[in-house]
Amino acid sequence: MSSPQSGAKTGAQASTPAVEVADLRKRFGDLEVLKGVSLTAGNGDVVAIIGGSGSGKSTLLRCINMLELPTSGAVSIQGETIEMQPDGRDGLRPANAAQLRRIRTRLAMVFQSFNLWQHMTVLGNVIEAPVQVMGVPRDEAIARAEKLLERVGLSDKRDVYPAFLSGGQQQRAAIARALAVEPEVMLFDEPTSALDPELVGEVLAVIADLAREGRTMLLVTHEMKFAREVANHVVFLADGVIEEEGPPDLVYSAPKSERLQKFLATVE
Ligand code: ADP
Ligand code: MG
Repeated sequence: MSSPQSGAKTGAQASTPAVEVADLRKRFGDLEVLKGVSLTAGNGDVVAIIGGSGSGKSTLLRCINMLELPTSGAVSIQGETIEMQPDGRDGLRPANAAQLRRIRTRLAMVFQSFNLWQHMTVLGNVIEAPVQVMGVPRDEAIARAEKLLERVGLSDKRDVYPAFLSGGQQQRAAIARALAVEPEVMLFDEPTSALDPELVGEVLAVIADLAREGRTMLLVTHEMKFAREVANHVVFLADGVIEEEGPPDLVYSAPKSERLQKFLATVE
């Protein structure tokens, strides 16, 4: 499932993007939040999405897994376009529920606010989707979950409820839960923004580890230094459009757009 780190892409993997977003628009009432966004992430790519508050970063991620339904445009995962149809007003709705369910299992999202199920232990959170949605036998799901918890450094918390964990531990548990569905693409929406500063590093270390193993990720973050280190492509969203994009070294050290220059000056 994981592919070689970006830069060394060859053959079929290089030709079919993991994620392709084509001319995506999203309107909330009179507010047009996404005004025609197109982006492509190849297998193994780490795409950092940066931009000011309210620029549409979360909406973009949420439209990719259809947590939010786009007004127009298309999303394809591994070359398969999510089938949509007019919703009878001025937007789109899924045209094929079974297809959407299937495609969603190939994506996993990690939220700013962790969103763990509070009434389940860490282990319960991690095995829930494999057992309930994917039909993995419970013993097997537990064995896999234990490996994932080891990977994110939470083996000793497996039977603990989320309320007894620090924010950093909760977010690492959320990442283990996301990994448990063996997603092809991971979507991270400001995974460290809700954390106390001293807990940010432990979560970034886990994400960096996933990047190193060649996972395809779209990462919304305010951690500019981190984005520069792990991403191989950076997208700057401003006012619902991609104002500038490119390799991190160029985007960060030689931004062309004045808006990006200003944005970088405020966050660094
Ligand atoms: P970002 O993640 O970049 O901060 P968002 O995608 O969350 O931005 O939001 C972009 C804009 O869309 C904001 O003005 C926000 O208030 C608006 N918005 C987001 N979700 C909704 C919603 N469900 N209903 C109405 N407006 C929304
Ligand atoms: Mg957001």
